[in-house]
Amino acid sequence: MMLRDCLKLLFSLGITLFVLNGCSSEPLPKIKKEKLSVLSTTVMIGDIVTYIGGDKIVSDILINRELDPHSYEFVKGDDEKLLEADLIFYNGLGLEHGGSVRRYLNKSLNSYALGDELDRRCPGLLIYLDHIPDPHIWMDVSLWQKVAQLVTQILMEKDPVHSAYFLERGGRLQNKYAQLHQAIHKKMTSISLEQRYLVTSHDAFNYFARAYLGSDWQQRVLAPEGLAPDGQISLQGLRLIIDQMKEHHIEVIFPEAYVSSDPLKKIQESADFEGLAVKLSNDPLYSDSLPEATDYEGMMSYNAGVIYDNLAR
Ligand SMILES: [Zn+2]
Repeated sequence: MMLRDCLKLLFSLGITLFVLNGCSSEPLPKIKKEKLSVLSTTVMIGDIVTYIGGDKIVSDILINRELDPHSYEFVKGDDEKLLEADLIFYNGLGLEHGGSVRRYLNKSLNSYALGDELDRRCPGLLIYLDHIPDPHIWMDVSLWQKVAQLVTQILMEKDPVHSAYFLERGGRLQNKYAQLHQAIHKKMTSISLEQRYLVTSHDAFNYFARAYLGSDWQQRVLAPEGLAPDGQISLQGLRLIIDQMKEHHIEVIFPEAYVSSDPLKKIQESADFEGLAVKLSNDPLYSDSLPEATDYEGMMSYNAGVIYDNLAR
């Protein structure tokens, strides 16, 4: 094992022990806090929490918006965030699978895996790829609306004094999401069926496709990489995508922000070699993270706009 890997492992173990055991024989002083401190792993979850919690909670995000939540590992400073949190919300369904983060969240008693909890309360909503649940549930706004309802319920249980406040704000957010869901559906279904195909970098748009691209959505979404972006594409995967692009006359492919577009460039080169004119969208889509200074609703509207502008004729 390389020294760097050893240090990484020791650090990741260290942070877990530090958090679980307090890292010292002296008990930490109990500070009575006026507000519930809530830590969310991703910006998308943090958006829900910040809106519903308003000025009655302190909301913080673990994984910065430009970082990959699939592979994120704890870094310096995260231990303070974890210690401070009364409550941790994470996506679950295998999204946060970086070793140190996964181990900590699995053991933590004040953590809620929102996707797994959603599946327990409303079974049958998840998409499975090769028997593995697809964690990208935020890409269907109607599912994210259910997650907002779940967050509302948990905040009400944890801080019953402010339950009316959370209920009112949670209801308002769910209404906003319901309207956004309708607007995206209207926009996507206004693209002709012949053009309504989405080729992206990694398998993050299955829920989007199911919600907005039509009942035969599985034929309408393609990605060279799997559920987590790894910059790889197999020859077999490349052949499959090129064949489907030929069959459906797909002319545009969509890079994703913060994800390597190398596999898409390979597709473009191969398509070019076989006489297909394929262009990369000038604007990337956002899948696992949001554009700077944009919230979840802004990200979903932006994605719908980029897809529409590229595909609608
Ligand atoms: Zn992803």
